[in-house]
Amino acid sequence: MTDHTHADTLRTPIVAVLGHVDHGKTSLLDTIRGSAVSEGEAGAITQHIGATDIPLDTISGMAGELIDPTDFDLPGLLFIDTPGHHSFSTLRARGGALADIAVLVVDVNDGFQPQTEEAIDILRRTGTPFVVAANKVDTTPGWNPQDGEPIQKSMDAQSERAKSMLDENLYEIIGQLSDAGFSADLYWRVQDFQKNIGVVPLSALTGEGVPDLLTVLMGLSQRFMKEEMAIDVTGPGEGTVLEVKDERGFGATVDTVVYDGVIRNGDTVVVGGQDEPIVTEIRALLRPRPLAEIRTEKEFEKVGEIGAAAGVKIAAPDLDRAMAGAPVRVVRDRTVDQVVEEVKAELAEIEVETADN
Ligand code: GDP
Repeated sequence: MTDHTHADTLRTPIVAVLGHVDHGKTSLLDTIRGSAVSEGEAGAITQHIGATDIPLDTISGMAGELIDPTDFDLPGLLFIDTPGHHSFSTLRARGGALADIAVLVVDVNDGFQPQTEEAIDILRRTGTPFVVAANKVDTTPGWNPQDGEPIQKSMDAQSERAKSMLDENLYEIIGQLSDAGFSADLYWRVQDFQKNIGVVPLSALTGEGVPDLLTVLMGLSQRFMKEEMAIDVTGPGEGTVLEVKDERGFGATVDTVVYDGVIRNGDTVVVGGQDEPIVTEIRALLRPRPLAEIRTEKEFEKVGEIGAAAGVKIAAPDLDRAMAGAPVRVVRDRTVDQVVEEVKAELAEIEVETADN
């Protein structure tokens, strides 16, 4: 039954992937997308602008016996496609991090590296819950790869020698997390994910352990973020600019992640700019055209509206001085001045943060 007085619904948690260069962030995202697609069903993933949406059904298909989908009512996970903590730290939402949850990728042989430390500092500062993906387990000498399998099953297929070498590396990482002030353990030993960081051994190359990562992300979101995921689906849309891009036929556009409410074509929006907030009216809301229809020349399709959480390209006049990381707010039933003040306040907060670093 639809309750028209309360349009609250649960949105998809936004996930960011961070970690040291070459530790496997891009490969991990590719593998998650690829194995979701090979789950086979239509709608296994939805490509957004700057993000990939993996619905609960697909996650549950990939996770097999690890997940009982009836335990969840969050709709899935929205992965931001651009990995790295530079993008993460510029992507804010109402003073906090845009991402609701993060994956810190650490090469199991390399352990903590300078950018791992930087990423940890940012996660700590923004209070973002995270899990550690201990990547490249397949490079353990003598490893017997178990493509796409849950990590326990994969561990069972290893020699004692390979297992103990991997264990040694994993405990090194757990020790480094502890030195950084985070109590951590292998995820299946963690009782309380609010007190302990879960470490998921995996391989972005073979996909083993990836089902576990998705299960842990889904479980964490469900248990600790359900309240924050409740949004008014008809409320004025709020989002964050990922990137400002010139697009043939549209001029300057802003690729935006929407984290609350709904954005509609024709809406008046306020967008954070390099000098002052930009007040403009949306001319088009664009999404990537589904792969099946890519024969047509146009890369994007127009949509009438888009609700959180989602990635969308906004075409509107005067966006050329918009700024990556800046807020996007729909005006709807408020005054333009009110929303301009909100955007200014949020930009001031971001500037203070940046100056602190
Ligand atoms: P990023 O800089 O963190 O995005 O790292 P990439 O995803 O580009 O990976 C860096 C290199 O490590 C590439 O050559 C990948 O093929 C390789 N790589 C990533 N993940 C794995 C893995 O799980 N196993 C192995 N053997 N190689 C990997």
